[in-house]
Amino acid sequence: MNSAAPAPTAAKASRPAVLDLHTIFSWLLADGIVEKAGSKAHYAEAQGILKNGDAGMHPLTAVAQCKLISAKPPHRQMTLDALCEWVAGKVGLPFQRIDPLKIDFTQVADVMSASYAARFNILPIALTPTTLTVATAEPFKLEWELEISRLSRRKIDLVIASPLDIAQYIAQFFALAKSIKSANKSSGQDVALRNNFEQLVELGKLNKQLDANDQHVVNIVDWLWQYAFEQRASDIHLEPKRDVASIRFRIDGILHQVYQVPAVVMIAMTARIKLLGRMDVIEKRRPQDGRIKTRTNGGQEVELRLSTLPTAFGEKLVMRIFDPEVVVKTLPELGFPVDDARRWDELTTRPHGIILVTGPTGSGKTTTLYTTLKALATSEVNVCTVEDPIEMVEPAFNQMQVQPGIDLSFSDGVKALMRQDPDIIMVGEIRDLGTAEMAIQAALTGHLVLSTLHTNDAPSAIMRLLELGVPHYLLEATVIGILAQRLVRTLCPHCKAPDGELNEDIWHSMVGAWNIPKPTTIYRAVGCPECRQTGFRGRTGIYELLSITEPFTKLIGTSTDVAALRRQGVADGMKPLRIAGAMKIAEGVTTADEVLKVTAALH
Ligand SMILES: [Zn+2]
Repeated sequence: MNSAAPAPTAAKASRPAVLDLHTIFSWLLADGIVEKAGSKAHYAEAQGILKNGDAGMHPLTAVAQCKLISAKPPHRQMTLDALCEWVAGKVGLPFQRIDPLKIDFTQVADVMSASYAARFNILPIALTPTTLTVATAEPFKLEWELEISRLSRRKIDLVIASPLDIAQYIAQFFALAKSIKSANKSSGQDVALRNNFEQLVELGKLNKQLDANDQHVVNIVDWLWQYAFEQRASDIHLEPKRDVASIRFRIDGILHQVYQVPAVVMIAMTARIKLLGRMDVIEKRRPQDGRIKTRTNGGQEVELRLSTLPTAFGEKLVMRIFDPEVVVKTLPELGFPVDDARRWDELTTRPHGIILVTGPTGSGKTTTLYTTLKALATSEVNVCTVEDPIEMVEPAFNQMQVQPGIDLSFSDGVKALMRQDPDIIMVGEIRDLGTAEMAIQAALTGHLVLSTLHTNDAPSAIMRLLELGVPHYLLEATVIGILAQRLVRTLCPHCKAPDGELNEDIWHSMVGAWNIPKPTTIYRAVGCPECRQTGFRGRTGIYELLSITEPFTKLIGTSTDVAALRRQGVADGMKPLRIAGAMKIAEGVTTADEVLKVTAALH
């Protein structure tokens, strides 16, 4: 530390150099919060948590996870907030719980970059003409203080805050600030959009009725969309609560709270969005749905699918974002290994037969189908689809929407399509015997049919169709390939770090008898501003591709044992999902946790 830096208010004579476990425990003992008898065991526990935790875990976070009960009355639990408040007292600094609604993040984000803030784990939270308030959980690591004081030309006021809050808000504030600025730039308005949130918060305090066409509301909705697109969100949730309402984004399959706004502001935002989606703005007690087409700052068209739901505190609105870019991806970009991509191409270019894609909801089945169909839809080939709903309007396909209200089911849809001289038919999902029979009939009359099923793995798809009542000889005559798939999050390339110690036993329990050498290096998630501190950025598919062979066909008729089907599939070149996942771990693309979460053990 630079000795010229202004000393914090109550610097102790014998200040430790760093706030580590040793310092924390010596203070806990000195203050009688931990008794001597138990202190060694608690210390060891905290040390273990720190060692096995994420890189950069703060020692206070580890101590909080020990759930210590103070030995001093009133014997309260030493939660992370309680520990931070106590440490603040020890170093003579104020403790502050960070309230995102009170922070003008566009202003404070100007004083340093996100990476600078992340490097020192500090968060600027308030700016006056003379002072800059900075939150930290590292009261002794102040090498940044002089530099920031000089650059901002202000005196630095330090406050102690929770290390978890600081890490979370470093990721959020700087991204928010950047997004608001670029929205401001692109709209070219004189009115500073950056003040909108503060103004809305002020308006909210007045309890004034806000109009859906209020310019602030218009701007804030536009900004929200741009922010969601930039953050690669797949869904935006507007959730009313009693006083404040939450805005959450789903990114790479996981929900993140991105902001809170006063309830009245959200009511106005919801009204604005419903208006644009041509929904009934007055009706709030009935679920509704709608669509909006908008553009990104880069000029790309984006479709939003809206749905509302009445909740105890008002109308909840969810917007699903459909990014047209997903359909121009290639198989390798979807995560297909070279070998599987070649086998998939071979199957999908056959003139007739049924190809099934299986997996739970949200496993990327639709993306695989659209990508495949898009590659097949040339001017000589008529691609027709029956879907529920149509997830993406694609000019190269003839798409039909299932409408139960007018008796247009999947099987009716296929029947109607057959009169339209199709070459390739995509049926959204096979849910019943009627649809399965229509798909089989289409395949038997010389069409290539692609569809989806809800089963956990590829061989189980055969069992599922038999259970629906499809005779085995019809399956033998038509089904040519089955693809099971899952999505795993991919490690953020900006912050992933080698994780040396992959246990030999864990690797072998994963890959079993498969001869896949243990990778020399595997990687683990760390977290940085680029990935909102999650350590992951984007997702990739893992695939189990079963090509139906002659010996496999024979088994369908004679055996109802899924294990036998699976063994034959493997003999024919199928790699089980778990193995496909292990290969992604070995490539350094994802982690063992991600793969174990979505795949079953080898049989
Ligand atoms: Zn990262």
